[in-house]
Amino acid sequence: MNHYGFGSALAIAGLFAAGPLTAQISLPVDVRIPMAPAPFAAAGKIHLVYELHVTNFGRQEMALTGVAAMNAGDRTTLVEYSGEVLAANLRRPGFAPDAADPHKIAGGARAVVFMWVSLDDAGSLPWSLEHRLTFESRDDDGQRVEATVDTEGVEPGPPAVVISAPLRGANWFAFNGPDNVTGHRRALIPVGGRARIAQRFAIDWVQIVDGATHTGDREDNANYHAWGADALAVADGIVVEVKDSIPENVPGIDSRAVPITLETVGGNYVVLDIGDGHYAFYAHLQPGSIVVAPGDRVRRGQVLGLVGNSGNSTEPHLHFHVADAIAPLGSEGVPYVLDRFMLTGRAARTGAPPEMMTPQPRGRELPLANMIVEFR
Ligand SMILES: [Zn+2]
Repeated sequence: MNHYGFGSALAIAGLFAAGPLTAQISLPVDVRIPMAPAPFAAAGKIHLVYELHVTNFGRQEMALTGVAAMNAGDRTTLVEYSGEVLAANLRRPGFAPDAADPHKIAGGARAVVFMWVSLDDAGSLPWSLEHRLTFESRDDDGQRVEATVDTEGVEPGPPAVVISAPLRGANWFAFNGPDNVTGHRRALIPVGGRARIAQRFAIDWVQIVDGATHTGDREDNANYHAWGADALAVADGIVVEVKDSIPENVPGIDSRAVPITLETVGGNYVVLDIGDGHYAFYAHLQPGSIVVAPGDRVRRGQVLGLVGNSGNSTEPHLHFHVADAIAPLGSEGVPYVLDRFMLTGRAARTGAPPEMMTPQPRGRELPLANMIVEFR
């Protein structure tokens, strides 16, 4: 007992003895990870995708100049962001993405760092992730000072849920699919008093034939290859929410049939409870096409409705994601892997022409952005 008392006394004495530290005993920074990352496989690697919320609790502006994620076990660095790479993976709520001085966090303000860690195999998965953040600020004399904060570890979540494909057939293109910069990935939206990223791993599935999603008149939904495709239950489950009767849009950037609100953003949709706190979300379906109702038990592969162009949608596509709650946007998006698919092509980057390849069977992987896949 004395031992502990003695130790504490020493620690307190040590703290007060630190004269040069004046007022600031630690960097006034709060770092949170709202959602522990669940590991998932994609493109032959294992990935951990999550965010750091970094709040400046001080009055003085600070610049976040470096973020490193480390394996807490062997202290190896798994990913490190600085300079332009950090700027590209950082957003400050309330500031435009292209606002000046992207690294600077004003007193009281927050920055969100979008993390994407890729590992060669499941064997290199850390039991805990630690982070080192480097900041620059000015001291009372205007001198530049650098300081680091080491955060406590966060344990990766359980592995991603395994589901089957939400569609069938060939030439499905993972538009706005998982990567670290898409609108889905960055859609940190406050709903009901909490900011979450329901669409973290969402995909806008469109079907591409000869490099295009439609033939003929681009203002006719029926001319789009995806229109009318069956949206399929990805697992046995219970239908927990259905929205119907929102008319379809004329395809186009500014041609929504109804004002876009929290109620209409997903268009006609189905939410399927697939167990273990996982909810599959199917958005933008054709009005009148949904053949299930809340409370229905469905089997994997069963048709739920038809792909359409309702809600916040510019052309017929299936927006699909899995989240941890029923509310389509008031939930956290969780990773999922498809039991099997054929990888048949890929665009090098968003906007680049997709190129077909020798088909590769893939198992228990999440399709990534701009992949073209076939579901059997
Ligand atoms: Zn979408």
